[in-house]
Amino acid sequence: MTELSLAYIFHQQQLLVDENFQLPKVEKLASDLSFSTGDQVIARDLQNSETIPHGLQLVPIRQLLQFWDTQQFEQASRAIQLLEWRRNHKFCSHCGEKTEAHATEFAMICPSCRYHQYPRVQPCVITVITRGNDEILLAKNAKNKSNMYGLIAGFIEVGETLEDAVRRETEEEVGLKLKNIQYLASQPWPFPSNLMIAFKAEYESGDIQLQEEEISDAQFFKFNELPEIPFKGSIAHAMIMHVTQGSKVADDTKTWL
Ligand SMILES: [Zn+2]
Repeated sequence: MTELSLAYIFHQQQLLVDENFQLPKVEKLASDLSFSTGDQVIARDLQNSETIPHGLQLVPIRQLLQFWDTQQFEQASRAIQLLEWRRNHKFCSHCGEKTEAHATEFAMICPSCRYHQYPRVQPCVITVITRGNDEILLAKNAKNKSNMYGLIAGFIEVGETLEDAVRRETEEEVGLKLKNIQYLASQPWPFPSNLMIAFKAEYESGDIQLQEEEISDAQFFKFNELPEIPFKGSIAHAMIMHVTQGSKVADDTKTWL
């Protein structure tokens, strides 16, 4: 009997799961990306010709986050990011030759010039800002049509420290100066390939001034009068709970703080 592998089979931003939201087991194909650690686990995109097997369904990944524990989330993140990277590195970025997958490492290699392309993560800072003992700054993303208020976040620029990025993003997006910037936690975030690096900081000075292309509203909210916030399972949710509900959030989020 052929040994079956636990499979992450993606179609765009959706994943194939059974009616209990569990991963299916399939026969491994030669082109599948396999994970070297632990159980036999593979990842691939749904083939164009492939029909969805009976009893399985495509579910948006974001919806699955709430059912997953940390370990599964991290494994799924790796699957998403490695597939994305493999899709985007079919050719050598140095000489243009078609690349080949390395036999044992996660690397795409150029057979002509031997240039190795490795998966990259995009570091991104996210900051929870408090004022006094009972207020938190929350901001509404201009591109998001919902009423959800989140945290200030952005990518690190070349040459910046993480703390520089925290200060710059906050000044750019809401015009405030910060003090006591402290590292909290991190979370891989596979949409598409970010590493969220979480900080907490205190308001120092300034009046809120919105960068309107990015932020449609930002306010200091009382801890007990929060608006709609990001979903449970996201690092933003864990960070907001951490500062507004005290330090017992590890139970709530299973993980990151
Ligand atoms: Zn090359």
